[in-house]
Amino acid sequence: MSHSGTPNPHLSTFTCIRCGLVVSAAGPDAEPRSHCPNCLSGTHGRCRARTHPIAVAILRDGDWMLIQRCTGCDQLEAAPVAADDNQLLLIRIAVKPLAQPPFPLEHLAQLRVR
Ligand SMILES: [Zn+2]
Ligand SMILES: [Zn+2]
Repeated sequence: MSHSGTPNPHLSTFTCIRCGLVVSAAGPDAEPRSHCPNCLSGTHGRCRARTHPIAVAILRDGDWMLIQRCTGCDQLEAAPVAADDNQLLLIRIAVKPLAQPPFPLEHLAQLRVR
């Protein structure tokens, strides 16, 4: 009887359904991963559809959360950012609203602080 029945999370892996990367199920901080560190996509536990990263939120204590939308049921999910997540992609998601403002940026030049 050598099998304990509990798989070691450091040894189990999953294959990203978006980019095909084989990643460990546990992140560098031993937290279970909710998304691929390369493309930041994940699998929605409830419907097994792919989740797509849409935004970054910062908690009061400074921790970054990745906001993902499920492509199957449109539900939003928040997951903590892991230490080895794709930082360039995180920044691109974070600045996206600044690149697509809902008003012309030229108007900012006409604002005066009194
Ligand atoms: Zn991926
Ligand atoms: Zn879903």
